[in-house]
Amino acid sequence: MFIGHFGVAFAAKRLVPRTSLVVLFLSAQLIDLLWPMFLLLGLEHVRVDPGNTVVTALDFYDYPITHSLAGAVAWAFGLASLVYALTHARRAALVSGALVMSHWFLDLTVHGPDLPLWPGGPEYGFGLWDSLAATAGLEVGVFAAGIFLYVRSTSTRGPRRHLALWSLAGFLLLVQAGNFFGPPPPGASAIAWVGMAQWLLIAWAGWADRARPQESRSQERIGPLAGHSPASAAKASVKNAG
Ligand SMILES: [Zn+2]
Repeated sequence: MFIGHFGVAFAAKRLVPRTSLVVLFLSAQLIDLLWPMFLLLGLEHVRVDPGNTVVTALDFYDYPITHSLAGAVAWAFGLASLVYALTHARRAALVSGALVMSHWFLDLTVHGPDLPLWPGGPEYGFGLWDSLAATAGLEVGVFAAGIFLYVRSTSTRGPRRHLALWSLAGFLLLVQAGNFFGPPPPGASAIAWVGMAQWLLIAWAGWADRARPQESRSQERIGPLAGHSPASAAKASVKNAG
């Protein structure tokens, strides 16, 4: 799974409008950002195996530190604790941890049975990667829904804001198309180095989000009304009163 993870991160902005998209991207994609480091360190392994599934030519035969369920829980707890230590925002920390976990469960839907519950434990994966149409539907569907929710939670004025967001969205879609239709990577170290380049997406998210200050920055209330302006909230309550 690739852009689906970013879709979930975009959507989460609605829950925590004052939390930067940098934190949301980092959380949703954390274990795929750590994975290339563990590959380069020789602690996890992948091999190129054309035809492994219809969608991917990669055989993820050894990645228990980043991609076991137990590992994901530990990374989620670690990142949520860090977010809480830095921001004292309990809601942001909880959402951050939940996003880390969302990665494992989204991977579970598409991967073959290669995601262990714990290092050395039984491995699962529902294998949606055996169908390109089903995988593309899920990836693009989650991504589009996430962007829709993000745009509704943030201010949309100004051409620079549009450029920052839509160039990021377009780039992510291009990378996804490359994953679907491009040739298999030459080897494990190429996979690792391309994986490391994903850190640039985190910086890009910072640019896109800074260019789109959310409307509710001055508003204390977060929750069902997050993303609505105080004026629209007031209008809603007037309507309810009437
Ligand atoms: Zn992953």
